[in-house]
Amino acid sequence: MLSVEQAIAAILAEVEPRSPVDVELGDAIGLTLTADVVSDADSPPFDKSQMDGFAVRSADTGDSARSLQVVEEVTAGRVPQETVQPGTATRIMTGVRLPAGADAVVPIEQCDFTEGSDTVIVRCGVTSGTFVIPRGQSMSQGETVLRAGTRLFAPQLGLLAELGHAQVTVRPRPMVGVLATGDELVPIGQIPGEGQIRNSNQTMLTAQASQAGAAPQPLGIARDEREHLKSKISEGLECDVFCLSGGVSAGTRDLVPSELQAAGVREVFHKVEMKPGKPIWFGKLDAARAADGRPRWIFGLPGNPVSSMVCFELFVRTAIRRLTGIAPATPQPIRAKLVAEHQTRGDRPTFSPARLKRTDTGAVVHPIDWQGSFDLRATADANAMIRFPAGERVYAIGEQVTVHQW
Ligand code: AMP
Ligand code: MG
Repeated sequence: MLSVEQAIAAILAEVEPRSPVDVELGDAIGLTLTADVVSDADSPPFDKSQMDGFAVRSADTGDSARSLQVVEEVTAGRVPQETVQPGTATRIMTGVRLPAGADAVVPIEQCDFTEGSDTVIVRCGVTSGTFVIPRGQSMSQGETVLRAGTRLFAPQLGLLAELGHAQVTVRPRPMVGVLATGDELVPIGQIPGEGQIRNSNQTMLTAQASQAGAAPQPLGIARDEREHLKSKISEGLECDVFCLSGGVSAGTRDLVPSELQAAGVREVFHKVEMKPGKPIWFGKLDAARAADGRPRWIFGLPGNPVSSMVCFELFVRTAIRRLTGIAPATPQPIRAKLVAEHQTRGDRPTFSPARLKRTDTGAVVHPIDWQGSFDLRATADANAMIRFPAGERVYAIGEQVTVHQW
């Protein structure tokens, strides 16, 4: 059986980053730039006022109050027409280009001025450049402002918009199909009958896919019956990544691995040494076997909700990061101090839901009392999971443990 590290390495060996494409800027959130972005202009494009006030010649101001003649008022989006001559000033708003002749701005709060009047009393002295943002201060033409590999969130997208990039070159968001399997499942809007439960995995895995930067595609429920499963699998194989939940263990109706293989998917691994999540299955539909020549990656996640969730975080997320060029693609656990004693038992490394908190003296983590891989109620209190090594041992308060944040 593979270790978690071996399973992650096997995924990385099978998944290659997607080829870059141009997408609309608004659709690029969370994706990764594939080329440096160079500014094609100075920003700001002209010397501009940082304040609402008066553009003046600094030499006209001093320790005592001075009266200046107002030659013009320039509001946002307009361009000064008049030169500021000695003894004059221009009423100017924030962001407006500094008029010729002026070299500083006096904020309105430092002036005595009645709107509409043709004189202003400037109460304080300013030096050349006061409250003026010089042309190109933020960036100059030809400067590299974003590097290839940068992930795009609000600030980066805002900058690209400032530069006029209506489209941006990124590794595209993979489509992630999510199919729940199980005869016991009913849609979440239904009242479960005898022996039935709601399909909570679909909503949970769909949310995880979105959070990981993929485009989820919910595919409903497949019955534990070969013909139905076969048709749902062929739907799922349209997606770049296909996650199935349930049907990968040793039950007589666990048909997922055999039906995936019947559909041409090559098994890469089945079962990983971990708890929960041991029965996980991973395979690839190789490019040569796909009708359109594009490979697909398929994860058979164990049906118990916490198993599914943990396997998604460790394995599916790694594949999505690799596809979209996020580096590093592998999970990046941190170390944190236990704030409650914890007993482990068992022969496999265990991922336990936990509450991680940052404090002034470092990260601390509180294991959550959970009842097992079905226990979403307890897991909903968690924001992380602790990875405990295999073996029976009591972990004391204050010990450092390995934590994966969600
Ligand atoms: P399986 O891996 O198919 O043996 O499923 C294990 C257990 O996980 C089942 O007995 C269900 O209780 C639960 N389970 C399976 N699929 C789902 C699902 N989509 N939503 C919630 N629970 C599920
Ligand atoms: Mg099942």
